[in-house]
Amino acid sequence: MDIKANLEKVKKTFINQDCLLVAVSKTKPLEDLKVAYSAGIRDFGENKVQELQAKQPEMPQDVKWHMIGHLQSNKVKYIAPFIHLIHGVDSFKLLKEINKQGKKIDRVINVLLQMHIAEEESKFGFDTKELNEMLSDPDFSNLSHVSIQGLMGMATFTENQDQVRKEFRGLKSLFDELKERQLPAFVQLVELSMGMSGDYLIAQEEGSTMVRIGSAIFGGRG
Ligand SMILES: *Cc1c(COP(=O)(O)O)cnc(C)c1O
Repeated sequence: MDIKANLEKVKKTFINQDCLLVAVSKTKPLEDLKVAYSAGIRDFGENKVQELQAKQPEMPQDVKWHMIGHLQSNKVKYIAPFIHLIHGVDSFKLLKEINKQGKKIDRVINVLLQMHIAEEESKFGFDTKELNEMLSDPDFSNLSHVSIQGLMGMATFTENQDQVRKEFRGLKSLFDELKERQLPAFVQLVELSMGMSGDYLIAQEEGSTMVRIGSAIFGGRG
């Protein structure tokens, strides 16, 4: 695997050069992360708390760690001190726990709300009803140690590009709609995390501000 060459290849194809590349390094050894780091990558995505905990102290301190996987409430405390952005916030319960852990260590934690946009049941995320319920809950406006930076979504795993595009477009229009709403100041809505190795170009065409790319950089995960 020529990680450096892969990175260049991926970057060259970007439709929007301002779109942030989050290098998804889950399951990959530190050597691979270090190659990507030396090629200029500072944003790394992981989907397991244990792996984040193991890798974080071994990498340079200017690395921005992204938690992109499903996060259990009881594990928030382990990553709260150093995590740069939690992409997969999919329940009010989890958001409240992140707020609580942030409060404990006096740190405002950046998060994205994960929306369920795919056809598959297996993918996590809010539906619009659940989102609206949370946004109108009186407890929501009392959150003090989270900053909601935007939305995240994963499209259906399919060859059907029209469907993938439709799902990303739906997420973008929800994002734009939310921006028009009267929401507390800790809701910023500047980031739209959508797109992976197989669909990042469609995602960028549909307005993604950050793509999470693993296998196209580091190779398959076996
Ligand atoms: C693994 C993963 C990715 C990266 O997937 P690739 O297809 O390897 O690019 C992106 N987002 C999430 C949430 C993931 O779990």
